[in-house]
Formats: sequence, structure tokens, C-alpha cells
Amino acid sequence: MFLLYMKKSEEKVRELKGANMDIDLLPNIKITWHQDKCPWNIAKNTNEHKCAVKNVSICKYFRGIKKPDVVLCAYSTESKE
Ligand code: SF4
Repeated sequence: MFLLYMKKSEEKVRELKGANMDIDLLPNIKITWHQDKCPWNIAKNTNEHKCAVKNVSICKYFRGIKKPDVVLCAYSTESKE
């Protein structure tokens, strides 16, 4: 276990631009892990907003992903649409 930790701490991670992502925080019964809901969808009582739609768009409030699967979201109730 200790060796595995040491190996991970020495791991070099690249930052690569231009990922073509498909990311959302929509309710999905097929997902077995905890998933927060999109605050914009909650505020508007809809499921139309997605963080990133492959080949199409990225939400204006999307600020990236934090390891391993956390969406960094800038939406607030004061956000202009
Ligand atoms: S970035 Fe935020 S506001 Fe935009 S779709 Fe994702 S969770 Fe919703």
C-alpha cells in the first residue's frame, strides 16, 4: 500500500486542452453513486441545462472538473442569464 502511494505521488499529470466532453448533473436512475443537481436547473425547475454537450456546447457557468468527477460551477442566484 505504501509503495502504491509513493508511485502515485510521483505521477506526472499532463494538462491537455480541447477535451470534447459530455457532462451533466441530471437525475439518472442508472447512476449508482451520489450526484448533486445542477443549481440552474433547480432554480428554473427544468432539466435543460448540461455542463458540456459533446460536439455542441459548454455551459457558460462551467469552470472545469476537479478530480475525480466534481463539476466546478459558477452559477449563483445572482447570475445573469
Ligand atoms: S456548469 Fe453549473 S449551471 Fe452549468 S449545467 Fe453545469 S451545474 Fe448547471
